[in-house]
Amino acid sequence: MSQKKKNFETLAIRTQSETTQFSEHSVPMYLTSGFVFEDAEEMRASFAEEKQRDLYSRYSNPNTNEFIQKVCLMEGAEDGFAFASGMAAVYSTLAALVNAGDHIVSSRSVFGATHGLFTKYFPKWNIETSYFSVDEVEVVESLIQPNTKIIYAETPTNPGVDVLDMEYLAAIAKKHGVLLVIDNCFATPYLQQPIEFGADLVVHSATKLMDGQGRVLGGVTVGKKELIREIYLFSRLTGPSLSPFNAWVLSKSLETLAVRVDRQCENALKLATFLENHPQVNWVKYPFLKSHPQYDVAKKQMKNGGTMVAFEVKGGVEGGRNFFDNIKMCSLSANLGDTRTIVTHPASTTHAKVEPEVKQAVNITDGLVRCSLGLEHIDDIIADIKQALESK
Ligand SMILES: *Cc1c(COP(=O)(O)O)cnc(C)c1O
Repeated sequence: MSQKKKNFETLAIRTQSETTQFSEHSVPMYLTSGFVFEDAEEMRASFAEEKQRDLYSRYSNPNTNEFIQKVCLMEGAEDGFAFASGMAAVYSTLAALVNAGDHIVSSRSVFGATHGLFTKYFPKWNIETSYFSVDEVEVVESLIQPNTKIIYAETPTNPGVDVLDMEYLAAIAKKHGVLLVIDNCFATPYLQQPIEFGADLVVHSATKLMDGQGRVLGGVTVGKKELIREIYLFSRLTGPSLSPFNAWVLSKSLETLAVRVDRQCENALKLATFLENHPQVNWVKYPFLKSHPQYDVAKKQMKNGGTMVAFEVKGGVEGGRNFFDNIKMCSLSANLGDTRTIVTHPASTTHAKVEPEVKQAVNITDGLVRCSLGLEHIDDIIADIKQALESK
């Protein structure tokens, strides 16, 4: 059976580097910064790239190669490059592909740091960004300019768990000869594969669900070979590469991605359903709840509703504060995609630096809670959230 024919769970487990002379069952860690050459000719040929091999771990390493290969198989991608963090992946991918004077069209609902890149740093290099809201994708085409290079979006979005129609965005990108880049962090390749819907590149913060246990930072970009080549050349010069240790951890973590995400989705739907009927909650958003504004799109492109639930507690700033102060078991943390359930207050943390007008436009209100479902028993998760909502 060829690699491509195997199922997702099997690929995640049975894709592994060759064994060494010790015939180990678990892949070893290659903690080496450099690799040695046989002779002058091999050294020359390796640097000239006539001979494909590992030279130096800023360029590649057996552990990062294995991690990249797994993600490529999971995403149905031709090639990839792994980074030290999700933001290193986002930044390096965009920086490698845009030139001064280019233009980006982006969803307004993007990760806080990505928004910071677009508003604070890219303008320094004369790269401007135009934004569209998640509820008005039909304006995307009108934002395209002759110098537009990239359409950029996250789906589901952080923190609002809004969903964008990737097939629609890909059709516009194709029509105008621009690239579609999707941040697939919230869905993971297990729930959706953006390339199948026409994306050219997929970026991930591997820190989140790919690691899944809150231990290491990492990022990865996968997609078309010729684009990855540009990203690789930029990265081997600028050095945002993933460490072999973190790559080893992440390759192991991918083996359990499907089972973890299955249970987390199940927990998320149960929590969302509970919250929908709670009097202290103004609204709740979860892609696989019928009340979600993009429910049909979510059903079309996602295998399940994801591991994140967004909801608004009644009572504004005070209501929000009271909720967080009364949480007993769940963690108050900025991370997500952990085995531990995490509740976050985006308005004062991950999106604190986002301008008030933008926060309002993307619905990051003072009472907004972002909940990342963990693997504790759902009854215990709901009990904790219920008592925090109901305490005075
Ligand atoms: C966390 C996150 C990032 C950034 O990833 P890091 O690993 O923290 O650098 C990018 N995009 C999304 C959607 C995220 O949630």
